[in-house]
Amino acid sequence: MPNSKTFTGGCHCGMVRFECTTDLAMVTACNCSICTKKGLHFAFLPPQSFQLRAGGESLKEYLFNKHAIRHQLCIDCGVAVFARGKKPDGTEVVALNVSCIDGIELAKLTMTPIDGRNR
Ligand SMILES: [Zn+2]
Repeated sequence: MPNSKTFTGGCHCGMVRFECTTDLAMVTACNCSICTKKGLHFAFLPPQSFQLRAGGESLKEYLFNKHAIRHQLCIDCGVAVFARGKKPDGTEVVALNVSCIDGIELAKLTMTPIDGRNR
């Protein structure tokens, strides 16, 4: 990823902190139930491009539907910081909630519409 940058970020209260490397080329604007209700916009990263720096013990896992995506929420402030899942071919992937990146401005990102509601 030639335009990759390293970002820091975390949950709202600051207990959960991460560092990640991504080009933010593909950020989802998904119409599925959880992305709609929580206002989630994800970027997908290989697990080695995402490091949890603090708060690993402060995460609550939230599962629904087929339990394919393991959403990680801060137990204090409730922010969904990231999720762990697998691609169709079985490779592990981290779905980062880009809203958790320090200083991010959602309006300046290019969003990719995803029809998650009908999958
Ligand atoms: Zn928090």
